[in-house]
Amino acid sequence: MLLQPAAIDGLAFARNKAVLTGRLGIESLPRLVQSGCSGSVLDFVMTGEINERGKPGLRLAVDGDVRLQCQRCLGSLELPLHLRTELEFASSEAEIMAADDDIERVVAGREMSVAALVEDEVLLALPMVPKHEQCSAAADSAASEGTSAFQALAALKKRSFSGG
Ligand SMILES: [Zn+2]
Repeated sequence: MLLQPAAIDGLAFARNKAVLTGRLGIESLPRLVQSGCSGSVLDFVMTGEINERGKPGLRLAVDGDVRLQCQRCLGSLELPLHLRTELEFASSEAEIMAADDDIERVVAGREMSVAALVEDEVLLALPMVPKHEQCSAAADSAASEGTSAFQALAALKKRSFSGG
């Protein structure tokens, strides 16, 4: 396997329609770790392009499994991730602020961190409040819909104490 570069020169990457394939462990993505993700790897493909608007940018595909904590039962939740997104390069923050469309932009740099680009998109794709689709805690906590994770934790503790 080729050594994965840590950074790309954004504009050159776009113009050359470069393709970068790689794999990142979640432990190497500090903001994902901080948001409660653990344990697996993410495979990505980054493809430089000049988009249909004539702007440089890249397409990003990320596939993997992310492990999160269910905010209802606090159990582990495996979330398959199949992310496809497109980013356009802007020349400045001001240009991004001035744009009033739905296109996702990032300021082009000569050393854009590959991990940070992938991490940004994964963070955006994750649910704000991760929950099991069929949560084991759902049956006995219909009333607790909307309670905080903190309250749920307290309830969980109480239950395990009364059980012993
Ligand atoms: Zn759950």
